[in-house]
Amino acid sequence: MAVLGRDDILYYLNGGNDEELYAIADGLREESFGREVYLRAIVEFSNICNKKCNYCGLRAPNSKVSRYRMEVDSIIDSARLAAEAGARTIVLQSGDDFNYSPGQVEEIILGIKESYDVAVTLSLGDRSAGEYEHWFNCGADRCLLKLETTAPDIYKKIRCGENYHQRIELLRSLQDIGYEVGSGIIVGLPDYTLEQLADDLLFLSALDLDMIAAGPFIPHPDTPFSSAETSDIELSYRFTALARMLNPLSNIPATSALDSFDSKGREKGLQRGCNVIMPSVTPAAKRKDYNIYPGKNAISVDVADTISRAEELVRALGFVPSASKGSSRRMNNV
Ligand code: SAM
Ligand code: SF4
Repeated sequence: MAVLGRDDILYYLNGGNDEELYAIADGLREESFGREVYLRAIVEFSNICNKKCNYCGLRAPNSKVSRYRMEVDSIIDSARLAAEAGARTIVLQSGDDFNYSPGQVEEIILGIKESYDVAVTLSLGDRSAGEYEHWFNCGADRCLLKLETTAPDIYKKIRCGENYHQRIELLRSLQDIGYEVGSGIIVGLPDYTLEQLADDLLFLSALDLDMIAAGPFIPHPDTPFSSAETSDIELSYRFTALARMLNPLSNIPATSALDSFDSKGREKGLQRGCNVIMPSVTPAAKRKDYNIYPGKNAISVDVADTISRAEELVRALGFVPSASKGSSRRMNNV
């Protein structure tokens, strides 16, 4: 296939030919992954956050959130339930809650890795490179750290003064440490332009990522972006389909945020180039409080049920829930 230039990207982002775009993306996914779809079970273990991102319901100033912080043992227990239900990857995610010491995070990683043959992904936000290196040496396999936008000035605005260059430096350190690294953006943030999204795609692709995560922006009523327009979901499908064209071997999730727009959102994502879904296995009583955006974790069923529903969704589309850990194909092919 000819190299995809910025003008081609803009053509497709603008809805130039969705049918063609999705067919190409689906074909490339099939070439790289066959019928397999990877399930990543996500334990959202704390909704406490010291940051003030303008888009996120967990931001520190939001006093309407009922905050929780799970104990080390119950985090390991949630991972156990997911592993016993068949999950081969556990994603540990939280707000930027630095109350957990490096030793406690180590305990969680070891508690999971010593008992279960699963990959562990960390999505803990801006911890130091030294801490991440220590956790890699403890057995953590992957990290997910989204840039949210690749424009430094927009980053500063939407993340309330945070420094883009520090984030990208951390991302590069994670790659140097040896992690499989995922990053991405939020599609359709206030005042977005198609030109910026095209630049985001080119920038993310140049980073040589193992995973590219891009979900639609959904305004949360208790944030400074409450009255922003909800993004166009089609733009998210186009973005991930183009990410597949530019990164045939990277893992690309059909994010749960897609389902907030359309009950078939994740299914459509999987038919348009995505190869991963990330069901929440956070304890049912806490799930609804991990309210990043409206509609997040709307369904509260137990862990075994969550995993089997995700597997059913995959099978109903004619795909196969992978029995493997779904390690980076990109890494294994270099
Ligand atoms: N605190 C960590 C961090 O920020 O990297 C991880 C947790 S954070 C809740 C996970 C992701 O939620 C962010 O990377 C962001 O892309 C997404 N997110 C937050 N608010 C959102 C919104 N209103 N719409 C869509 N995605 C959102
Ligand atoms: Fe905190 Fe992450 Fe939400 Fe920002 S996106 S407020 S760091 S949980």
